[in-house]
Amino acid sequence: MKIVDVKAYPTSFRVPKDRQVSLGIGTMTKRDCVMVKVTTEDGITGWGESHHARSPGSIGHLINTTLKGFVVGMDATDTTGIWTRIYKFQLGSHGMDAATAMAMSGIDQALWDIKGKAVGWPLYKLLGGSNRPVPAYAGGISLGYQAPDSLVAEAVPMVEAGYKALKLRIGDTVAADIQRMTAIRRRFGDIAILTDANTGYSVADVRRVMPAMDELDIGWLEEPFPAHDHRSYAMAKGFGRTPLAAGENHYTRFEFHRVIEDGNITILQPDLSKSGGITEVQRIAAAASMWKLPIHPHSSMTGLNHAVSIHFLASIDNGGYSRPTCRWPTNSATRWAPSRGRSARTAACARSTSPASASRSTRSSSRPTR
Ligand SMILES: [Mg+2]
Repeated sequence: MKIVDVKAYPTSFRVPKDRQVSLGIGTMTKRDCVMVKVTTEDGITGWGESHHARSPGSIGHLINTTLKGFVVGMDATDTTGIWTRIYKFQLGSHGMDAATAMAMSGIDQALWDIKGKAVGWPLYKLLGGSNRPVPAYAGGISLGYQAPDSLVAEAVPMVEAGYKALKLRIGDTVAADIQRMTAIRRRFGDIAILTDANTGYSVADVRRVMPAMDELDIGWLEEPFPAHDHRSYAMAKGFGRTPLAAGENHYTRFEFHRVIEDGNITILQPDLSKSGGITEVQRIAAAASMWKLPIHPHSSMTGLNHAVSIHFLASIDNGGYSRPTCRWPTNSATRWAPSRGRSARTAACARSTSPASASRSTRSSSRPTR
């Protein structure tokens, strides 16, 4: 199945003011995505998603002007060979590491889509998985900086929909973060509370917040620092029991190997549209499994990457939560208004936007995996 064309479609649109959410990386004023289409001489087309890097035109340009040249003419089923070729001629030799990893992730997803369409199998089956439940948490681009009462009100319909885990946006002031976490714990005693600082904390902040996190039984503290702050993560690990999480800004197995071996970050969150695609995250998951570390994939803009992530979780033996954000909730509980249980919504999300190989969605359940 010779590849005859590769084309990226970068898009960007403004988020209406009343639907913008504030979190540790600022207020979300626009949403971006990069879809990647790979066409074979047999007429089979595959679709994948590259993370947009907040500059979707740049990622699309890299695919359309450079990576395409390495891929056209190769066999679409040779996912390992294509990954190796891009590594040799671009990622490992010409810089642009993160951009290249994101760009090649979308190509790799599209190639797996082609494989699935060629044999008529869903992605989880291609990857050696089964049609089994995948747990999910609520709170992607939501549950942000707001008064505790408002935060609880936003979370109520999520918990009523069946979610057993919520992820809160922190990285504000430590005092405000503790007030929000406390309000959620008081209202929902038996759910898992996960937190994401989006790199908004200093080492001193983590020293101050960690005793409260331990007391409130927080499931993880995600990205208190930027990905390259290895020393900060090493210091923060000793401040308490709450595990540190990261990975959405780590790229390829060559960055994850240090994270895994350091042992400071024990919740790993590679993104299948960022870290090098399905082919590479399989390697990262295998390396993590050697240290008994779980994989909770970060997911990106569209339902396509979300569907890929669910199928991937159904294929590994150290998988954790899915992150169901195929549509973004707002800070308003009334706007969020889910009409179905979480399992149904997550599955529908995968079915509605995924390629054919990912469309036979795995089921989602409410079981937490902490
Ligand atoms: Mg995050």
